[in-house]
Order: sequence, then C-alpha cells, then structure tokens
Amino acid sequence: MQTTFTDAESKRQFEQVAQQLPMAVAILDRDLRYIFTNERWLLDFHLGQESLIGKNHYDVFPEISEDWKAIHQACLAGESHTDEEVAFQRLDGSIDWLRRDIRPWYRDDEAVGGLIMYISIINEQKKARDELQAERWFLRQVIDLNTSFIFAKDIDGRYTLVNKALADWYGSKPEEMVGKYDENYNSQRHETEHFRRDDLEVVRERKTKFIPEEPVSSAEGTTRWYQTIKVPLISGDGDSVQLLGIATDITERKHAEEQLQKLVIQEQEARQVAETASKMKDLFLANMSHELRTPLNAIIGFLREMMYSQQLDLDNTHMAERCLANSKRLNLMVSSVLDLSRLAVGSLELVIMPVDLNELGHYIHEDLSIQAKEKGLQFELEIDPKLPKMIQHDEERLTQIVSNLLVNAIKYTSEGQVKLALKQVGDKLIIEVSDTGIGIPSEMQSAIFEDFTQVQKQSQNQGVGLGLSIVKNLTDLMNGRVILKSEPHDYTIFTVELPLNLQDDGEINHG
Ligand code: ADP
Repeated sequence: MQTTFTDAESKRQFEQVAQQLPMAVAILDRDLRYIFTNERWLLDFHLGQESLIGKNHYDVFPEISEDWKAIHQACLAGESHTDEEVAFQRLDGSIDWLRRDIRPWYRDDEAVGGLIMYISIINEQKKARDELQAERWFLRQVIDLNTSFIFAKDIDGRYTLVNKALADWYGSKPEEMVGKYDENYNSQRHETEHFRRDDLEVVRERKTKFIPEEPVSSAEGTTRWYQTIKVPLISGDGDSVQLLGIATDITERKHAEEQLQKLVIQEQEARQVAETASKMKDLFLANMSHELRTPLNAIIGFLREMMYSQQLDLDNTHMAERCLANSKRLNLMVSSVLDLSRLAVGSLELVIMPVDLNELGHYIHEDLSIQAKEKGLQFELEIDPKLPKMIQHDEERLTQIVSNLLVNAIKYTSEGQVKLALKQVGDKLIIEVSDTGIGIPSEMQSAIFEDFTQVQKQSQNQGVGLGLSIVKNLTDLMNGRVILKSEPHDYTIFTVELPLNLQDDGEINHG
C-alpha cells in the first residue's frame, strides 16, 4: 500500500478511515516523529488525551529494544514487517502481547516518507489461546498415558484421533495415523472387516456397542484380546457423527478364565469318575451282601434244625449254639452292609404300613431282655399312653433303629440300667434309648454317626461301626433327626425324633 498526502481532502478521508480501524494506528516521519495517531493508539497504550504529534516514538516508548529499532530501520529502507504475536515488555516489567504490521509510506517523489504502524493488543486472545493449548496438552496426556487403546474414526473409517498405546501397538505415531485406515496397519482381514462392520453399526444406528472380546493383531502379527466399547460422537447440530472407541487388553484375564474353565472340566470329569467308582462299589457291596445272605440263611436254618433234632450230645449242642450265634452276628453285619449300600445308592425304600407301637416296643424288649439279663442290667420299657394305637410307619426300619440303639446301650453298659421309652411330643414320635454305661466323649459325638467309626479299639467291642450310621441314615430318610446327649462314665441318651405318621405314597410327611 502506498500512502501519500496530496491534499487536505484525502488526508481527512484517510484520518476518518484510520479512526474507525479496530486497531491502534500511528504514522511517523523518517525521524520517527509522530505525524498522526488514531484515538485507539492513545487509548490502547494508556497515553492520555494529549496529542503525540511531533514527539519521537522512542521518547514515548523508551522501552523499545534495539531489535525493534533495527526493524524500524529496515522498514524505513522499504521493507514491510508483520508479527502475528510478539511480546512487548513495558518499563514496569509487564508484558503486552501485540499483533503488528509496520510498513513504509512514500512521498510524491517515491522516497520513503516514514512508517505506518498498525498494532492490535492481543493479550486476551493470547491468554485464551494459551489456555486452550494447555487444555489440549492435558487431554492429550490423559489419552496417551492410558494403556487402553483410545481412538476416533470418521464415517469412512479414517482415524481422527489415536492415542499412544494404539499407535505403539501398530508401530506408528498418533499424528501419523490420523487420516489412515485400520487396513494400513493391521493385515488380518477378518479383524479389520469385523472392526468396520461394528464401526458402521455404531455410526449408522447412532448406538453404543459393547464388544465383550475381540482379537487385535499388531503390525508384527502378534494377537491379543480386547474388550471394546464404541460410542457414537454426534456433532452439536446432529448432522455428522464420528465414533469413539476404547479397547482394553483382557488377554491375561481371558487366559486365566480359560485355565479356570479347563480346571472346572477336569474337576467335573474327576468327580464323574469318582461317582461312577463309588456307585460301582455300592452296587458291588449290595450284590455281595445279598449273595452272602442266601447261603448264611441256609446255614442258620440247618443249625436250628440240628439243635432241635435232639440228636446232638451236650458238646455238639454247645458247638452248634456257638455256630448259630456267630452266624446270626455275621448275618446282622451283612444285613447292615446291605442296608448302608442301599441307603448310599438311594435304593432303599420305606414300606409304609399300620404299625402297633405298643406291640413293637414289647417285642424288642422281650427279644433283648436275655442279653440285658446276662449282663445283670435292669432293662426298662416305657410306652406313652397318649400314643395312638396304630401309626403309619415302616415297621421293619423302626425296629432296626430301636434295636441298633438298644444293642449298643446293652453292649456299652456294664452296670445300672438300660431304658427304652416311646413317646409322643406334638406330632412327633420320640424314641429315647438311655443307659448308664461308659458314655461317649464329646469330641466323638458327631463322628460316631459316620460309617465304621468307633470310640473303642476294634478289639474291644464286637461291632464294626455301622449301627449308628444306619440309624442316622434311616432317620434322615424318614425326615427325622437324632440327638445325642452323653457324659463319659455316666450316661448316654439317644433321642430319635420322627414324624408320627409317614405318608403312604413313598413321600415323607414333612409336617
Ligand atoms: P458298633 O458296631 O461299633 O457298635 P455303631 O455305629 O453302633 O458301631 O456305634 C459306633 C460307636 O459309637 C461304637 O463303636 C461306640 O464306640 C459308640 N457308641 C454307640 N453307642 C454307644 C453307647 N450307648 N454308649 C457308649 N458308646 C456308644
């Protein structure tokens, strides 16, 4: 631009324009004395109302540096100079940020007449720009320090934002990846096609998509597993949409899950093998016991016949008696094993029929009286008169429960008394077997209900440790419970609590 003053009119025109310009304007002569300033010049530089005309620029601004002075000289030699952003340190140490334009103006004779300066103070803009930059830097740190992949893509699948983790994985730089596609970095077509399908779904339907797991291969072909969420980023006016994705590495977790799954399957297989083995054992026991009982019953039958035949002398009778007693014991043991194995495989079914409790009580009492008497024990029977005459129950199994408890009571008592009480409490049948025997130490009181568990050494008693286990299992089957109270060297009381009546359809009356 060439600026010349030829007449008063054009000077006025120029001054009008200069006053309205949204920046500070000053015109200086070759000696840098002011010829003109607009009001903004005085205002922006806080120079008061007084005219600067005739004053030297460096007198007005003594802080102007040698560098600036050199620029002025260059412009006086015909150059133009522009700074988009330059710091102007004032005398008091404060800094003004300026945008400035310095140009020479020409006389009629084409010689440089001096300088025109256009200056805008941009402190506010500079501050806003700096803040924006700081914010950008901060956000960049946030996404770059994150170990998950963070990225944005436009509708065509071009990256618009990539964080460092993803760029590292693809062997690139975040800024280099912007504008590129997945295919530029990932050679696994099935992966990139899958990414594209998901991306399109998110931007087209404008809906967030959660991908629980997907493989992502690096530039070198290493594959890891990621859990990804893809969110549509809709522009303020709603017209355009991008996609924001965050993919988190779940490889370790996936491996751990797979390992766990393998262990679970192994454990299930092992359990199945153990269950099959256990079932086969139970089946074998059940079959064996059954097979043993048949010849045993025949032996017992023959022995009885021999004894009653009156053809044996005293010695032989005595031997036959002992054979019979031992065979009976053996038969009882085999029956116990058979019952337990049936209980274990769940094949023992209750046979519900009308039972006369009074008769049952007296029958067992009579059956065991001889044994009690042989040991010099008092043997009492108490039957609650409140009990109904007949109840619905399994007579054989009730007898087995009561007998097992009473046989033990007699076996483990050397003096005093043994007692069987049958009572009714509410809708429950209570079987109470008590004795004044050796008692059971408290630490053994729950273990003795397990198969083959005994307090004394095997040699000290004649059982095998199955009686109580059968009592407990039968009681459970009848939906009842067994309670034990005992004091060593003093007493033992077994209380069996059962539903008074069992239902006939095989189901247990839970009432
Ligand atoms: P066992 O055939 O050995 O009698 P049980 O299962 O009937 O097997 O009983 C398990 C163990 O519980 C017995 O070996 C014994 O130590 C203890 N026991 C059972 N009843 C009594 C009782 N009335 N008094 C003392 N100990 C008992």
